[in-house]
Amino acid sequence: KKITIAIDGFSSTGKSTIAKQLAKELGYIYVDTGAMYRAVSLYALREGFINPEDFNESDLVENLHNIDLKFKYNEALGFAEMYLNGENVEREIRTLEVSDYVSKVAAVPEVRYQLVKQQQKMGEDKGIVMDGRDIGTVVFPDAELKLFMTASPEKRAMRRYKELIDKGDKVAYEDVLRNVQNRDYIDSHREDSPLRQAEGAVAIDNSDMGLKEQFERILNLVNR
Ligand code: C5P
Repeated sequence: KKITIAIDGFSSTGKSTIAKQLAKELGYIYVDTGAMYRAVSLYALREGFINPEDFNESDLVENLHNIDLKFKYNEALGFAEMYLNGENVEREIRTLEVSDYVSKVAAVPEVRYQLVKQQQKMGEDKGIVMDGRDIGTVVFPDAELKLFMTASPEKRAMRRYKELIDKGDKVAYEDVLRNVQNRDYIDSHREDSPLRQAEGAVAIDNSDMGLKEQFERILNLVNR
């Protein structure tokens, strides 16, 4: 019987790596909800609704209906890429610039309302692995399996830093660490559905756990 798997946790805890692998193993659909918040942030940046000095929330909210988000499966990559109004933005949404604004955009209640609605629709058919910050608490409170991933900020920043460097982005570790800590703070302190461990969620601290070990543990939980 196919189930719904909700994975929440702080940024760069390896949620998406685990979620992708799990979806592949089980033949489920994987949905990266962070990509949706990132795409909305990219849109706000491009339209000039947000910049280092200010954030014009009402303009963004008024234009939410002009934002079309779609996931398209990429056979070669083995996962779905994010499309913003028909354009593949998979690479652009992962930059440190977008990462610096995304938590502010994600704190806007209307943004959350719209995206949660779309996510719930995607999950109508069982056999889904969804990762984010509010999946077990808000999007699918009845999910059969809920995971809460954690790791130390320094470990997470180092993972993220290596990823960005590998992609050829010129970033400093200190900036990545600051971004991770800022997002942790905003994500867990926002008024509307703050990041927290969902009721019934299994916590997994992978500061010192390899991918294989985590994956085996999680597969055991699925097959319980
Ligand atoms: O998962 P990822 O790090 O790509 O998410 C980027 C940001 O999007 C998070 O820091 C958080 O602010 C926001 N987000 C959210 N709710 C989700 C997924 C992501 O608020 N379900």
